[in-house]
Order: sequence, then structure tokens, then C-alpha cells
Amino acid sequence: MIKITNLHKIFSTEEVETTALNGIDMDIKDGEFVAIMGPSGCGKSTLLNILGLLDNPSEGSYEFYGTEVAKMSERQRAQIRKGNIGFVFQSFNLIDELTVYENVELPLLYLKTPPSERKEKVEAALTRMNMMHRRNHFPQQLSGGQQQRTAIARAVVANPKTILADEPTGNLDSKNGEEVMNLLRQLNDAGTTILMVTHSPYDAGFAHRIVNLFDGKIVTENIHI
Ligand code: ADP
Ligand code: MG
Repeated sequence: MIKITNLHKIFSTEEVETTALNGIDMDIKDGEFVAIMGPSGCGKSTLLNILGLLDNPSEGSYEFYGTEVAKMSERQRAQIRKGNIGFVFQSFNLIDELTVYENVELPLLYLKTPPSERKEKVEAALTRMNMMHRRNHFPQQLSGGQQQRTAIARAVVANPKTILADEPTGNLDSKNGEEVMNLLRQLNDAGTTILMVTHSPYDAGFAHRIVNLFDGKIVTENIHI
């Protein structure tokens, strides 16, 4: 379970102070699929980055599976980022110089997984995302849909409890977008908790719950299981 309470995030530069998050409370149960929606600039990515331990809140608390994130060492946080959370971004974020196989293998290298287990896990993730036949290709040789499937394979290879996806279909046509959403739904059906930022009401329809943000606050929540 993920629990955030009275979360604030203020970005300060010399000239301006931006309140990106202004008091967010959220409980996310294991196995839930939550969509976060709202206009550009309302704080969606900031919220996802904090949930993914990529950034720290200015105020408020965040419990990740029972442990207060603020009390963790940087090492513990890094370990959670690598082993317990899978990230999927709009821009795929693959490494151009690495093949599909090598991109998917990366999290396991960080986790120091032994080679034979690594091979088994990478091949399982590639098979699940229907990318085995492209394993030796480089990202630039793939369609957008294939790149995102590779990114999802990388996100799931270490079998994380939670996947955070920031507009995962934002750069895809509708057919590839639907395929990516079906893959996310299959992962959720198999028990993975998913938090997804999206602009698309169609994609949000895959979630159990839609949280609408405006100006750094939750304005409405719709539940539609
Ligand atoms: P969304 O993802 O909903 O479009 P963001 O979470 O990216 O919105 O941004 C929320 C607000 O915080 C915006 O006003 C944005 O300009 C500001 N912001 C985001 N990241 C930073 C940063 N690193 N430094 C300063 N301001 C930021
Ligand atoms: Mg964003």
C-alpha cells in the first residue's frame, strides 16, 4: 500500500516560487490501477516523480509499503527505485546505444542479478511484451509501439510491485496506444499496482479509479470498477 498525506511540493528559483503540489492525500491499495488526470502544469508529473522516489516532497508524508520514505537512507531509496518500481515514460527513455535485450537487462545489472537468472528474466519479459524477435535491434530501428513495449519489458523485468507510467501512450498512434494499454491491464490483472498519468479519457477507462488534479490539488475522484 502506498499512502501519501498532505503532500506539498514547492519549486523555488531566485525569481519565482511555484507550488506544484498543494496538499495531496492519497491511499493506493495493492493491485489498484489509478489514473491521474488534469490540465498541463497541474502537478501530475511532479506527483508521479515523488511517488517514484525520484524527487522529495517539500512537506507531508509518504509511506511506501509501510515505511516512511523520508526516514529511508538514499541507498534504501535507490534500492526501491530499482527493485520495486517500474517506470514508463511518454518518451520511452531507452538507451540508443544498447539493443532491446541490453536495455531490458539494465535493471537486473543494477540489482546484481546472477547471469543465468538475468537471461531467464529478460527473455520472459521480452516474450511477455512480444519483443523477443526484436531483441538484437536498436531503439532507432523500432516503431514507437515497439519502443514502448521494450520500455515496459524493462519496467517489469525485476517484477516490481508497482508501475508508474507518465502518459505512456502520449507519443503513440491509437492502435499502438491500445496495445500498450492492454499490456498494462494484463500486468494489473496479474497483481501489479499501476499509477498512470494520462490526458486520454479512453486510457483512463482502463483504471479502477480516476483522480483529477487541478493546481496541485485533487478536485474529484471517480471510481468505476
Ligand atoms: P504536469 O505534469 O501536470 O503537466 P508538472 O508536474 O510537470 O505538471 O508541473 C507542475 C508545475 O511545477 C508547473 O508549473 C511546472 O512549471 C512546475 N515545475 C515542474 N518541475 C519543475 C522544476 N524542476 N523546477 C521548477 N518548476 C517546476
Ligand atoms: Mg507531465
